[in-house]
Amino acid sequence: MKLEAELQHDSIAIAKAEEYVHGVLSQVKTRFEHEHEFIQAIEEVFCSLIPLFAKEDHYIEQAILERIVEPERLVSFRVPWVDDDHNIQINRGFRVQFNSAIGPYKGGLRFHPSVNQSIIKFLGFEQIFKNSLTGQPIGAGKGGADFDPKGKSDQEIMRFCQSFMTELMKHIGPNTDVPAGDIGVGAREIGYMFGQYKRLRGMYEAGVLTGKDPVSGGSLGRKEATGYGTVYFVNEMITDKQLCFAGSRIVVSGSGNVSIYAMEKAMELGGQVIACSDSEGYVVDYNGICLETVKKLKENEGKRIREYIKHHPDAYFFEDGQGIWSVPCDIALPCATENELDEMAAKILVANGVKAVGEGANMPSTKEAVAVFQENQVLFAPGKAANAGGVAVSALEMAQNSMRLSWTAEEVDQRLQEIMKEIYKESKACALTYADQDNLVTGANIAGFKKVADTMIMQGVI
Ligand code: NAP
Repeated sequence: MKLEAELQHDSIAIAKAEEYVHGVLSQVKTRFEHEHEFIQAIEEVFCSLIPLFAKEDHYIEQAILERIVEPERLVSFRVPWVDDDHNIQINRGFRVQFNSAIGPYKGGLRFHPSVNQSIIKFLGFEQIFKNSLTGQPIGAGKGGADFDPKGKSDQEIMRFCQSFMTELMKHIGPNTDVPAGDIGVGAREIGYMFGQYKRLRGMYEAGVLTGKDPVSGGSLGRKEATGYGTVYFVNEMITDKQLCFAGSRIVVSGSGNVSIYAMEKAMELGGQVIACSDSEGYVVDYNGICLETVKKLKENEGKRIREYIKHHPDAYFFEDGQGIWSVPCDIALPCATENELDEMAAKILVANGVKAVGEGANMPSTKEAVAVFQENQVLFAPGKAANAGGVAVSALEMAQNSMRLSWTAEEVDQRLQEIMKEIYKESKACALTYADQDNLVTGANIAGFKKVADTMIMQGVI
């Protein structure tokens, strides 16, 4: 039992922490008022740090939030290229080098028409905590361009990638900043960018990019890592509550890199995946989604998911990707994009009896949706922790490149499983200390934050 004096001390400490967090938040909201996704990401992290600041107020004295919210560097640049009809096209490229306290900047490149400064900054900010959670020495960065790869020829993709890298190469290197893939950027795009980097630098520096094809120094298991890692994390979380994938109905949004390998691992663990999607709509197959068909359509042929029903006439296709959350399931894995799962969708999932949600994508659930899950005791695995497997294996790729070694797929997968288990354990331990043991949002944010903040303080005001 706490004495009255102690309780009073606690409530003063909480009030001080709240005042600090909300004060910085309101400055940030004024300064970046048009950067909605960035503000959303900051608000979620900052609010979950209040219990930490109430116990350890030296972070307040060190103005740690004011420092961590400002990227170390942000570059934006013109990306000119010529399309197949000889028209000159111009896109905007970005790279944010957010935080290098614990290692070189590390984070993917996204090619999608929605890319803007706010999206790149939200992704870079999230990367700080995610990379720290992996336990590897990697700082945080993110980049991309408002380029739409859909419908472009292979030659157009190559010309775009070469132009993008011609500017980006001034800012990256194996010991400074190491980009990888994200939406719209896979091994093909990484290959073109690596080729251009090598040509401009005049040397073979494999460690400058990760997500390369294994023949060019890429790690086996990197393609699968984010999806597999998400399922490994969710498996730890549900096993703790005596639940399992075997026999569960699973809905996975998207049908890109993360979704495909989340589906593959969920199926390997005995789950039945009954729905997946793309930005045009979703398919439901009560016989279980045929992954071979999805891979053929999306990985090999670049087609739309609606074509799935041509191969499986018993399946259904519905327009509107968001409707996927109305399909009753036990486990939901949002693996497509930010804010794809809102409050209404969360309420429908809860009404249909969902037991666990694991974020394969970055910030796919809105703040309101997360609150619905938490109020209804739905187990919730936040993206920062659950999808950290991709960057973790990217860091393993950097390690292999610097040793000029290649580990087997089994070896990489073993390390990935250990990393995901450790992230779960650390997030849960912090949740237990600072919130309640099931609040992995607070747990993951505090676990990721502490390592970076403590290192920033050790390195002085820089
Ligand atoms: P991807 O291969 O480009 O796939 C994205 C998928 O999401 C595609 O099927 C896309 O459909 C779909 N999609 C996009 N917007 C959608 C919408 N509004 N509704 C329904 N589906 C939509 O990208 P990815 O690498 O899998 O990345 C997916 C998410 O995971 C992103 O949030 C990314 O930041 C995050 N992530 C990725 C990695 C990684 O290693 N790749 C690591 C950590 C986190 P269309 O084909 O129609 O566009």
